[in-house]
Amino acid sequence: MNKVAFVTGATRGIGKQIALTLSENNYDVCLNYRKENEDLNNIKNEIEKNGVKCYAVQGDVSNFDDCKRMVEEIINEFGKIDVLVNNAGITKDSLIMRMSQEDFCSVIDINLTGTFNVTKNVVSYMMKARSGKIINISSVVGITGNAGQTNYAASKAGIIGFTKSLAKEIGSRNIQVNAVAPGFIETQMTDVLSDSVKEEISKSIPLKRMGTVKDVANLVKFLASDESSYITGQVINVDGGMVM
Ligand code: NAP
Repeated sequence: MNKVAFVTGATRGIGKQIALTLSENNYDVCLNYRKENEDLNNIKNEIEKNGVKCYAVQGDVSNFDDCKRMVEEIINEFGKIDVLVNNAGITKDSLIMRMSQEDFCSVIDINLTGTFNVTKNVVSYMMKARSGKIINISSVVGITGNAGQTNYAASKAGIIGFTKSLAKEIGSRNIQVNAVAPGFIETQMTDVLSDSVKEEISKSIPLKRMGTVKDVANLVKFLASDESSYITGQVINVDGGMVM
């Protein structure tokens, strides 16, 4: 019987690649999407080509009832969730003088409260199974801070505190909880930056390039696997050496 992975925000970017990589490694994959999108069927087809099951669930991670329903749907379909990847996230950058309370709160609601909402609904099933892997996608800016991202950096720092606390709470149930902190990864989220800004940032990275979605997905694959069975409560950067 295949292991079952639930990946939030899996319609593009890092989440999509995590879903694909896990499917290549024989996980049945549940994809969460918020908005219907023409790529969804293509992603499903690509995943199913790897000989595993793919199940798509619609829901907004900032809505607790959506998360409860999504988890119930997955449990009805598969009977278990072995791996949860809390990936869904947004940015709404601006300096604090221009940041509205709405923009602050919406980033916290999706990135941080969304991580709680999904985890809270999944964890009881993992506790009953006495096994599970929870992988939260944070960011290096949750460690270093970043001008123009008080909302985003606070949400990602919050995810780190959440990860460590939960790891302490449920380690005795054989559930591991870790955070991945990507640096500067090529996706739609970073596409808003101009080429010259991207070049400047790349020059400042020891490995002299932006990261790829595969760089992040490969670490998630490791944390989801039995190879990582003595690792919990950690924050692992995938950042080309940006932060050390
Ligand atoms: P992306 O391309 O913008 O994709 C974000 C995904 O999250 C989309 O599938 C989006 O779906 C989904 N999403 C957003 N709000 C949602 C909600 N309320 N409920 C459910 N799904 C929602 O971003 P990405 O670069 O792949 O980022 C993925 C994760 O990595 C995020 O947590 C991000 O903060 C983190 N990260 C990224 C970088 C980077 O450099 N790219 C660096 C560090 C950390 P919809 O289109 O349907 O909204």
